[in-house]
Amino acid sequence: MSPVEKTRLFLATTNDGKIREIQHALEELPVVFFTLKDIKDAEICAEEKPTVLENAIYKALHYSRYSDALTLADDTGLEVEALGGAPGVHSARYAGELASDPENIEKLLRALAGVPEEKRAARFVCVMAIAFRGRLIKSFHGHCEGRILEAPQGTGGFGYDPVFLVPSLNRTFAELTTEQKNKISHRGKALERVHDYFLYATETA
Ligand code: IMP
Repeated sequence: MSPVEKTRLFLATTNDGKIREIQHALEELPVVFFTLKDIKDAEICAEEKPTVLENAIYKALHYSRYSDALTLADDTGLEVEALGGAPGVHSARYAGELASDPENIEKLLRALAGVPEEKRAARFVCVMAIAFRGRLIKSFHGHCEGRILEAPQGTGGFGYDPVFLVPSLNRTFAELTTEQKNKISHRGKALERVHDYFLYATETA
């Protein structure tokens, strides 16, 4: 029996947290992953579009020119109700151009100082875009509702995970395993759609 031919899927990110979650969600697909870390001298894509959707599409198109594989890009934003939807599309650079995760969290907690629990609602929005050699194939959306805690809790995950509480579980994303987070998270939901799309595409090919 000949081995199943595997599609190469280029994950256009260097973020280990994203890579871990994407690979986990798509592990049953007949795909071989490689990431932006494997591409030497790639020009880093500016993420200056006004929406998460546009950033995801722009990133996918930009990086798809660096390989002959399907390219998957993720853009994510954290929208906090009490801050009028900020940091939103600026989540990565909330505390400055090269801000670290702890610096972004610190700025967020300062901005929410004194805001009571019932007014700390927030949601993550995620768009995954797939492109091939400079052409957009499809985009997928996912979101997750939660609340911003007053102090970090948990050691797993990445980014704003330690302060993002999932009320139905009474745990932050940083207190969940990758599998648990993927079941309910913005990225997990977008990835379910990516997964189904790939299954459909490979079954009908
Ligand atoms: P970007 O999608 O790489 O631009 O990420 C935007 C910002 O949100 C960065 O500060 C990330 O660390 C953060 N971020 C992205 N995805 C997640 C997540 O699943 N949990 C927590 N923070 C995230």
